[in-house]
Amino acid sequence: MDVVAQLIDAIGEQNVVTGAQVTEHFNGILDPTPMCARAIVFPRSTDDVSAVMKICYEWSQPVVIQGGKSGGVQGHVSKPDEIAMDLKKMSAIEEIDTVGRTATVQAGCILETLQDAAVDKGLMFPLDLGGRGSCTIGGNIATNAGGERVIRYGMMREQVLGLEVVLADGTILSSMNSVIKNNTGYDLKHLFIGSEGTLGVVTRAVVRLRQNMPSSNVALVAMDSFDQVLAVLQQADTGLAGQLTAYELMSQNWYELNSRHLGVSPMENGGNYYVVIETQGSESEHDLEKLEKVLMPLYEQGLIVDAVLAKSQKEVEQIWGIRESVEAATSMDSPYFIYDVSVPMKHMEAYLGNVESGIHENFPRGQCYCVGHVGDGNLHFLVLPFAAGDKAELHKQVNNQVYQPLAEFAGSISAEHGVGIEKKAYLPISRNETELQLMKTLKKTLDPKNILGRGRIFDY
Ligand SMILES: Cc1cc2nc3c(=O)[nH]c(=O)nc-3n(C[C@H](O)[C@H](O)[C@H](O)COP(=O)(O)OP(=O)(O)OC[C@H]3O[C@@H](n4cnc5c(N)ncnc54)[C@H](O)[C@@H]3O)c2cc1C
Repeated sequence: MDVVAQLIDAIGEQNVVTGAQVTEHFNGILDPTPMCARAIVFPRSTDDVSAVMKICYEWSQPVVIQGGKSGGVQGHVSKPDEIAMDLKKMSAIEEIDTVGRTATVQAGCILETLQDAAVDKGLMFPLDLGGRGSCTIGGNIATNAGGERVIRYGMMREQVLGLEVVLADGTILSSMNSVIKNNTGYDLKHLFIGSEGTLGVVTRAVVRLRQNMPSSNVALVAMDSFDQVLAVLQQADTGLAGQLTAYELMSQNWYELNSRHLGVSPMENGGNYYVVIETQGSESEHDLEKLEKVLMPLYEQGLIVDAVLAKSQKEVEQIWGIRESVEAATSMDSPYFIYDVSVPMKHMEAYLGNVESGIHENFPRGQCYCVGHVGDGNLHFLVLPFAAGDKAELHKQVNNQVYQPLAEFAGSISAEHGVGIEKKAYLPISRNETELQLMKTLKKTLDPKNILGRGRIFDY
């Protein structure tokens, strides 16, 4: 029997897709092209995952793990010689503990499903991002996802209490801790969080839930300078006393593009920068007053040009729509490249100026849109070069404009999407040789045959 026949024997024919049928599956929501892989396996349990990994380890067969296939750096995209392991059949929410405020979930559970289930119990799962309807908890753990509420609740790493992982040789490592404090030696879960499917298959997790906040308010604020964006952040954080949940930047061209595209115009006076401010609290009227009280002096001090408060759910959705919608930018007649970087706040304006001028010098018709979770130092760019030439070559040129200045500003080539395949060549900008060597030692120890996520993050 070859490796595929053994996999069919181990987990059943109905859970393995081979041959031409592989191409009926797609590479992901950002890349709806047909998949290629030696086979796709759909394990139903941790034991199935373990059986698959034992066989693949025996055969030195490369495996790539797939959750919701919404990843931004191609880490989940399978190669023709790989077995793709899709975790969609492991999607159960096994338990919600309303007293301990935890959820025990299988890795293939969709983020939005967990969010909804928590709200049904009067609780909330705070991680939130634009791909919420597709991405999975396992994928969120593997990429250490961030999103729009990191400023208040932290990244995925902060939400995970316990993990179950299957190692490259099929060993099941169960570390399903459910308490917040547990200092009993090395906290092994952190090895796997953010490891992008290169150290083990996350199969189950215990995550923290928080009390659901019954009141939420959203404001859209316009400002003229980046200094003002940062000054308003500090004053809002102080004035809102713990209620600030999101502080999301949009460049003027992004705001104009999307408000035109969506046919909404919430604000009369514009600025060079726009920020969505979201607060969450427990008393709607009181919280709204508090937000107004914070914004009014900022306006009087000339720190903000204009501000509007959403007065209905429809207005909330319109404001978030302008921030989150990517349809207008991605349907234009140019290749587009998406970026996710971190920069210390004090260098953000200089870095931003550097990238924008680099793009305009190299691509005279180019457009550089900037949005970002600016409250935690994270910027996203969407660059459209509007230039002729090979797409891969254009991508490289734009990459250089975005990544090279990061070394000077002590930034990171990846804030929250990970490295995957797309950013591998640029990793030395953000990591030194000693760090890279230790990462490779860990990889070699946990996956000596280099079968899990081979060629993702780094080569060795
Ligand atoms: C519209 C949109 C908005 C987005 N916004 C954000 C954002 O604000 N913040 C953010 O952080 N990301 C964002 N993303 C990116 C993406 O949603 C996240 O990276 C997400 O965490 C990926 O989850 P997934 O289940 O889709 O993983 P996949 O894309 O399937 O996989 C991603 C990586 O994780 C590995 N992996 C997946 N599941 C497992 C597992 N169970 N065990 C081990 N490894 C695994 C894969 O091998 C791959 O390397 C956005 C994406 C879209 C499409």
